[in-house]
Amino acid sequence: MIEKIQKTEEQWQAELDELEYKVLRQAGTERPFTGKYYEHSEKGTYNCRACGHALFKSEHKYHSGCGWPSFWGELETADIKHKMDRSHGMTRIELLCPACDSHLGHIFNDGPKPKGLRYCINSVCLDFEADEK
Ligand SMILES: [Zn+2]
Repeated sequence: MIEKIQKTEEQWQAELDELEYKVLRQAGTERPFTGKYYEHSEKGTYNCRACGHALFKSEHKYHSGCGWPSFWGELETADIKHKMDRSHGMTRIELLCPACDSHLGHIFNDGPKPKGLRYCINSVCLDFEADEK
Protein backbone atom coordinates (compact mmCIF):
# COMPACT_ATOMS: atom_id res chain seq x y z
CA MET A 1 0.00 0.00 0.00
CA ILE A 2 1.21 3.45 -0.85
CA GLU A 3 0.80 5.93 1.93
CA LYS A 4 -1.24 8.94 0.82
CA ILE A 5 0.19 12.39 1.33
CA GLN A 6 -2.38 15.11 1.68
CA LYS A 7 -1.61 18.79 1.91
CA THR A 8 -3.59 21.91 1.19
CA GLU A 9 -2.84 23.85 -1.95
CA GLU A 10 -1.43 26.60 0.30
CA GLN A 11 1.05 24.14 1.78
CA TRP A 12 2.11 22.91 -1.65
CA GLN A 13 2.51 26.45 -2.86
CA ALA A 14 4.76 27.27 0.08
CA GLU A 15 6.94 24.18 -0.44
CA LEU A 16 7.37 24.27 -4.20
CA ASP A 17 8.80 26.97 -6.38
CA GLU A 18 6.58 28.71 -8.91
CA LEU A 19 7.26 26.42 -11.87
CA GLU A 20 7.15 23.24 -9.77
CA TYR A 21 3.79 24.31 -8.35
CA LYS A 22 2.41 25.14 -11.77
CA VAL A 23 3.43 21.80 -13.28
CA LEU A 24 2.90 19.44 -10.32
CA ARG A 25 -0.27 20.92 -8.87
CA GLN A 26 -1.86 22.60 -11.88
CA ALA A 27 -0.91 20.07 -14.59
CA GLY A 28 1.33 22.50 -16.39
CA THR A 29 4.22 21.63 -18.70
CA GLU A 30 7.79 22.90 -18.57
CA ARG A 31 9.22 24.19 -21.84
CA PRO A 32 10.81 21.37 -23.88
CA PHE A 33 14.61 21.00 -23.86
CA THR A 34 14.88 23.17 -20.73
CA GLY A 35 14.57 20.61 -17.93
CA LYS A 36 17.59 19.71 -15.85
CA TYR A 37 17.03 15.96 -16.24
CA TYR A 38 16.47 15.92 -19.99
CA GLU A 39 20.11 15.05 -20.80
CA HIS A 40 20.80 13.56 -17.41
CA SER A 41 22.31 10.05 -17.39
CA GLU A 42 23.69 9.35 -13.91
CA LYS A 43 22.76 6.13 -12.13
CA GLY A 44 20.14 6.43 -9.46
CA THR A 45 16.48 6.90 -8.66
CA TYR A 46 14.03 9.56 -9.74
CA ASN A 47 11.56 10.46 -7.01
CA CYS A 48 8.44 12.62 -7.01
CA ARG A 49 9.56 16.21 -6.43
CA ALA A 50 6.50 16.96 -4.31
CA CYS A 51 6.52 14.01 -1.90
CA GLY A 52 9.63 11.87 -2.51
CA HIS A 53 7.81 8.74 -3.72
CA ALA A 54 10.23 6.65 -5.86
CA LEU A 55 9.07 6.55 -9.49
CA PHE A 56 11.84 5.53 -11.91
CA LYS A 57 15.37 4.12 -11.98
CA SER A 58 18.00 5.46 -14.34
CA GLU A 59 17.76 2.09 -16.19
CA HIS A 60 14.25 3.08 -17.28
CA LYS A 61 15.41 6.30 -18.87
CA TYR A 62 16.14 6.61 -22.57
CA HIS A 63 16.73 9.40 -25.02
CA SER A 64 13.57 10.02 -27.02
CA GLY A 65 14.44 13.41 -28.50
CA CYS A 66 11.05 14.79 -27.43
CA GLY A 67 12.44 17.49 -25.13
CA TRP A 68 11.43 15.98 -21.78
CA PRO A 69 12.94 13.17 -19.72
CA SER A 70 11.58 9.91 -21.14
CA PHE A 71 11.26 6.52 -19.51
CA TRP A 72 10.13 3.19 -21.00
CA GLY A 73 9.04 1.74 -17.66
CA GLU A 74 8.64 2.52 -13.99
CA LEU A 75 9.73 0.96 -10.69
CA GLU A 76 7.54 -2.01 -9.75
CA THR A 77 6.67 -0.26 -6.52
CA ALA A 78 5.92 3.08 -8.19
CA ASP A 79 2.35 2.27 -9.21
CA ILE A 80 1.94 5.52 -11.12
CA LYS A 81 -1.69 6.53 -11.64
CA HIS A 82 -3.21 6.99 -15.08
CA LYS A 83 -5.97 9.47 -15.79
CA MET A 84 -7.76 10.38 -19.02
CA ASP A 85 -6.86 13.93 -20.03
CA ARG A 86 -8.93 15.67 -22.72
CA SER A 87 -7.42 19.15 -22.30
CA HIS A 88 -5.97 21.19 -25.18
CA GLY A 89 -8.16 19.38 -27.74
CA MET A 90 -6.23 16.11 -27.35
CA THR A 91 -6.95 12.82 -25.70
CA ARG A 92 -3.95 11.82 -23.66
CA ILE A 93 -3.21 9.75 -20.61
CA GLU A 94 -1.98 11.85 -17.76
CA LEU A 95 0.41 10.40 -15.16
CA LEU A 96 -0.07 11.21 -11.49
CA CYS A 97 1.99 10.39 -8.43
CA PRO A 98 0.01 7.73 -6.52
CA ALA A 99 1.08 9.13 -3.16
CA CYS A 100 0.34 12.84 -3.53
CA ASP A 101 -1.71 13.03 -6.77
CA SER A 102 0.70 15.50 -8.33
CA HIS A 103 0.87 15.74 -12.10
CA LEU A 104 4.03 14.18 -13.59
CA GLY A 105 3.49 14.15 -17.35
CA HIS A 106 1.84 11.90 -19.91
CA ILE A 107 2.31 8.39 -21.26
CA PHE A 108 2.40 7.59 -24.97
CA ASN A 109 2.72 4.35 -26.90
CA ASP A 110 5.55 5.33 -29.22
CA GLY A 111 8.35 4.15 -26.91
CA PRO A 112 11.05 1.53 -27.47
CA LYS A 113 10.47 -2.24 -27.63
CA PRO A 114 9.42 -4.46 -26.00
CA LYS A 115 6.91 -2.38 -24.03
CA GLY A 116 6.48 0.42 -26.53
CA LEU A 117 5.84 2.95 -23.79
CA ARG A 118 7.11 6.47 -23.42
CA TYR A 119 6.62 8.09 -20.06
CA CYS A 120 7.08 11.76 -20.89
CA ILE A 121 7.89 13.43 -17.57
CA ASN A 122 8.62 17.03 -16.62
CA SER A 123 12.06 17.49 -15.02
CA VAL A 124 10.56 19.77 -12.39
CA CYS A 125 8.36 16.89 -11.20
CA LEU A 126 11.43 14.78 -10.41
CA ASP A 127 14.07 14.77 -7.74
CA PHE A 128 17.12 12.65 -8.55
CA GLU A 129 18.94 10.61 -5.95
CA ALA A 130 22.26 9.15 -7.12
CA ASP A 131 23.16 5.53 -6.29
CA GLU A 132 25.86 5.15 -3.69
CA LYS A 133 29.18 4.49 -5.29
ZN1 LIG B 1 4.24 12.57 -5.09
